[in-house]
Amino acid sequence: PAEPADPFKQGWLKGVYGEKPVQQVQTRFPPEPNGYLHIGHAKAITVNFGFARSYGGLCNLRYDDTNPAKEEEQFFTSIKDMVEWLGFEPARITYSSDDFDRLYELAEELTRRGKASVEENLEDFRAMRAGKYKAGEAHLRMKQYLGTIPEEYEIREEDATEVKKEKVRIRSLADNPALWDVAAYRVKNENYHHRTGDKWRIYPTYEFTHCLVDSFEDISHSLCTVEFETLRPAYNWLLEALNIKLPASDEKGPMQREYGRLNVEGTILSKRRIAMLVGGTTVGAADAAPPDPADEAAEGIGEIRLEEGGDEDTETVSQATTAVTNGTSSGKQIPPVVRAWDDPRLFTLVALRRRGVPPGALKKFVLDLGVTKANSNTAIHTLDACIRTYLERTVPRLMLVLDPIKVTFTNLPDDYLEERDVPFDPKDPSKGTHTIPFTKTIYIDRTDFRDSDDSDFFRLSPGQSVGLLHVEHPISCTSFQKDPATGKVTSIIAEYGSHILSGRARIHWVADSPAYNSPVRAEARIFNPLFRTAKPNELDWKNGGYYDDVNLESEVVYPDTMIESGFEYVSKNAPWPKEEGEARKEGAGHPSCVRFQGVRTAFFALDTDRDVAGRKVVLNRIVSLKEDTGK
Ligand code: ATP
Ligand code: MG
Ligand code: MG
Repeated sequence: PAEPADPFKQGWLKGVYGEKPVQQVQTRFPPEPNGYLHIGHAKAITVNFGFARSYGGLCNLRYDDTNPAKEEEQFFTSIKDMVEWLGFEPARITYSSDDFDRLYELAEELTRRGKASVEENLEDFRAMRAGKYKAGEAHLRMKQYLGTIPEEYEIREEDATEVKKEKVRIRSLADNPALWDVAAYRVKNENYHHRTGDKWRIYPTYEFTHCLVDSFEDISHSLCTVEFETLRPAYNWLLEALNIKLPASDEKGPMQREYGRLNVEGTILSKRRIAMLVGGTTVGAADAAPPDPADEAAEGIGEIRLEEGGDEDTETVSQATTAVTNGTSSGKQIPPVVRAWDDPRLFTLVALRRRGVPPGALKKFVLDLGVTKANSNTAIHTLDACIRTYLERTVPRLMLVLDPIKVTFTNLPDDYLEERDVPFDPKDPSKGTHTIPFTKTIYIDRTDFRDSDDSDFFRLSPGQSVGLLHVEHPISCTSFQKDPATGKVTSIIAEYGSHILSGRARIHWVADSPAYNSPVRAEARIFNPLFRTAKPNELDWKNGGYYDDVNLESEVVYPDTMIESGFEYVSKNAPWPKEEGEARKEGAGHPSCVRFQGVRTAFFALDTDRDVAGRKVVLNRIVSLKEDTGK
């Protein structure tokens, strides 16, 4: 299926494109390969790839791998997987580190042009490269506007308008801390880079690298989040200093443009915090060595401090350090909260995929929020509502009984069999039908039965009848059995075909019919928010206090779930439109491509776990059918 037609032409960037008629729109998605992508990155990916696609342009996937300490192979692989999962194909896959030589040459060039000073000169810069300094001992700084503005920028009476304008421009640049001689290169203690090995002791900063690599890749629009807006002058400054861009003009070279961050409230997106949830943590342990202050200082220069909802990673480090020195808690072990980075309760993209969220729903979510400069804080239920609407007409419907109770019809013979032709989507005949059996024994959901009649309850109870979906006649309950130990109803005795009271509901069910491979047995996992508070970012992460707020019902497992016989067909041959990006070959593809609506229950997808307790089918609830059904 095609993207919505030119989603970006409707507003954001319409004007931007008009600013400069570029031959070819070229963008890039530039993640640091230091973690798994999260829902916010779905926006970054959609904006960069979607914008390029709208204008018939290209978009690269660029690993911004300038920080050797934090990069791991698994992150590279997963990032690419997620871009492809979202249905985008990078024109090229590039690595900032592939340009380290070229960047270094330009840093020398900048120094020669008098636009950079390592404390002193070129020789010192080369000494940095040669490893004569430790981290934090030396930086190559760009010679920007720190200190006094040169005399020639004093505005004088005789200045003509153009000159005056230029002086005003320069003076305003001088007011921007992003241009106060920021570092271009710093020494790193970690000598091993996954691609360049031990070749480099010095690594370029974000400010030095990003705009230059953009120009190497012929990027026309360098799209980034709004917190980079104050860095735009610095982006242009370096390109101008190297004649890649014309001052105060977009006529030449790449142009930076900003869009608002996407944050989902009620969950945790920070890499460091998710790592604590996945791996557990030791609070105040002796081995939580404080980071090298020199390295941290250098780090700070190249990093952007984000506001609320952004990257708290660095903040957490310093807090952890404080905890150690204060001795507020010592060596307290906090166990893991989730099973992995793709645990469906998380909002990493791998987790959303595993939960069964279709990539198309995420793209739609991003576009529906609108691509503007405003940061959006979205509640989980807003995202869920979007996913629900998306799934409504895109997946088949099946009957699934989450928590079954056996119902036996005393008035039917043992081999009773009715076959029913059931549409996969009652509103869309093109989705086809399948045949289900109706037999002497069926299963209904525990929530559809009450052991005493209640005038407010319109489903099955002793002496009352109820309709069954897809079956002509109603059923009525004559008696039931309870487990005396637990007080739970274990089976229901009923009659088929007794008359129905009008106004009663029709409930879902599955037949007990081995000949039809019904039921298919499954474990169903229902997910709820991971924390009880709506603002988990405000919990006490430093001392492990977050653990006390974990929602014990964040995952509720139904081990005896039953699915009707159409499931086999749905899971193997589903003829429904495949999601762009997850094009499923026969027997291949991610399990979560198998999605369906459990009628009257929820939307489900197949989990990656197999053979849990001998069950082949493990299901994840993607979203409920309505908000807060508690199911
Ligand atoms: P985080 O620290 O939140 O995991 P990051 O900013 O360190 O994310 P990068 O790998 O540097 O992640 O980001 C790659 C691109 O994705 C950048 O252009 C960044 O601006 C963008 N991005 C990151 N988070 C968001 C978000 N929440 N909303 C929109 N874009 C985002
Ligand atoms: Mg980052
Ligand atoms: Mg970050």
